[in-house]
Amino acid sequence: EKQREKQAKYPNLDNYEIIDKMGEGAFSVVYKAKHIPSGRFVAVKILRKFQMDQVQKQAVLKEVTIMRQLSHPNIVKFIEFIDSPTYYYIVQELAIGGEVFTQIVKYTYFSEDLCRHVIYQVAKAVRYLHEEVGIVHRDIKPENLLFMPIDIIPSKDPLSKLRKSDDPNTKQDEGEFTFGVGGGGIGLIKLADFGLSKQIWEHNTKTPCGTVGYTAPEIVRDERYSREVDMWAIGCVLYTLLCGFPPFYDERIESLTEKVARGEYTFLSPWWDEISIEAKRCVSKLLTVDPKRRYTINDLLSDPWLNKVSADSKEIP
Ligand code: ADP
Ligand code: MG
Repeated sequence: EKQREKQAKYPNLDNYEIIDKMGEGAFSVVYKAKHIPSGRFVAVKILRKFQMDQVQKQAVLKEVTIMRQLSHPNIVKFIEFIDSPTYYYIVQELAIGGEVFTQIVKYTYFSEDLCRHVIYQVAKAVRYLHEEVGIVHRDIKPENLLFMPIDIIPSKDPLSKLRKSDDPNTKQDEGEFTFGVGGGGIGLIKLADFGLSKQIWEHNTKTPCGTVGYTAPEIVRDERYSREVDMWAIGCVLYTLLCGFPPFYDERIESLTEKVARGEYTFLSPWWDEISIEAKRCVSKLLTVDPKRRYTINDLLSDPWLNKVSADSKEIP
């Protein structure tokens, strides 16, 4: 009865059975759902269309346009887009482990090896975005980094995966999911939420978006440096994963803004005492105020700390 109520609230979603809530954002709520014809589990991002103006609706369509182009193991896969009079639905691959954010809250901070595994996978996703498809994510943060525990990583692409075999979600009721803590499996990290992302060049042609030759210098300049915002964000994520609190914090928004503008952060003792000099160096290369001197994605991928092989390291999927 309750299920029917929930289902009735969401028109044009007949092929899916809504199960439980995975998370929510400003305009959205994300549910785990079952694709009834195949029995496969997915994530449905439900957006309240009736609360949006034209600009916000356009933004959702842009999010979908961007997601459709993407195909990478470390990026949440797009499955389908459904429109209804009251809601938009973005059906996506389900990242059953939930947010990396929840794991930080749970474990306070991660070991350097675990941080490396997470950041390496984020870097792979971002390299694909920046270098192959010309997209800047612009909202990289622990809430938008999802994961799948390694033992239930699906082997197939989510489109073909809408089949009953090798169901990655069968272990869903076996308690909470964690990754890499205490020598367990390592989760596959999935970058999600393309709601703020921006296309900087056309996929395939690698030419700038907009009419070539008519683009103003400030736009060209802006787009040249726009990728750097993701690198800064990765620096903030890495910092947070290593110590358990963010690099910039202040209760007053004005002082926080000033601190960020000046790049005013410290490796606070005692929390940072045990952290390697190489990890600190990597953080500082990312948290560099001047975008021209900040690490690019290729710099990060060749960083010594990121490439350090730990004694008990496992192959990253
Ligand atoms: P918003 O743009 O409103 O922030 P997100 O796309 O980030 O929306 O989704 C909100 C939250 O829903 C995420 O932070 C996460 O907890 C959860 N979520 C989103 N997509 C998925 C997914 N594919 N699998 C599992 N959980 C998801
Ligand atoms: Mg989000």
